[in-house]
Amino acid sequence: MNRKPGLVIAVDGPSGVGKSSTATAVAKQLGLAYLDTGAMYRAVAVEAMRLGIIDDPDAAILLSAHADIVVNTAAQSASITINGTDVTNAIRDPEVSAQVSKIATNQPIRDLLTARMRRLIFSEQRIIAEGRDITTVVIPDADVRVLLLADAAVRVQRREAELAGRANHEQVVDQVVRRDREDSKVSEFSKPAPGVVLIDSTQLSLAEVVQRVIALVPQDALPEQITIPEETI
Ligand code: C5P
Repeated sequence: MNRKPGLVIAVDGPSGVGKSSTATAVAKQLGLAYLDTGAMYRAVAVEAMRLGIIDDPDAAILLSAHADIVVNTAAQSASITINGTDVTNAIRDPEVSAQVSKIATNQPIRDLLTARMRRLIFSEQRIIAEGRDITTVVIPDADVRVLLLADAAVRVQRREAELAGRANHEQVVDQVVRRDREDSKVSEFSKPAPGVVLIDSTQLSLAEVVQRVIALVPQDALPEQITIPEETI
């Protein structure tokens, strides 16, 4: 695949909207690196829980400043380690999902992790990054900026399918509704900022959402073999 000059795609949206599936599929089709920024907040939460400091905001800030966080941004094999431990699976634990807002709503931690995200994004140059504040705070001058939304009932269903029994219905509703309410106090991801394209995926398949995102990429940033279907332009 030919490598064209830089392309940064930013995707935001609430829990269960399909950001990870969409971003991974776009990354594979366009040959981009992939950054799941939520995984970074989750990795800090895992380590803070292990150290017994999840309820100590100052200790958690120190941890965020000094932890060695290594993110593998290959879309086929995305993984994350913190202080030498691979936490790729541990970050999906329902207990981590329930606790992670304590990290994500701590503004100094957000500032520290945002700086790390920017370094990762700039070092890759061709990348799709997803989260809650990528289009607004982390990289507001991205080439393509998308806010993915879907009705809450559909998001609960999608998250349940994704977790395949690893969390019960109450835990999923808690994550999708209660946690997003908490997290929306620190970042706005329920309506698009100026210049951000809204894609409502309530009635769309994953393939349709992926196609719409790819249709927003400037033609000269696309690999040569990708052509945009007429009807999505
Ligand atoms: O998307 P995910 O569930 O993995 O996100 C984990 C946590 O990090 C959530 O609490 C989410 O709101 C938060 N987050 C954030 N900003 C981001 C990405 C995730 O506050 N850019």
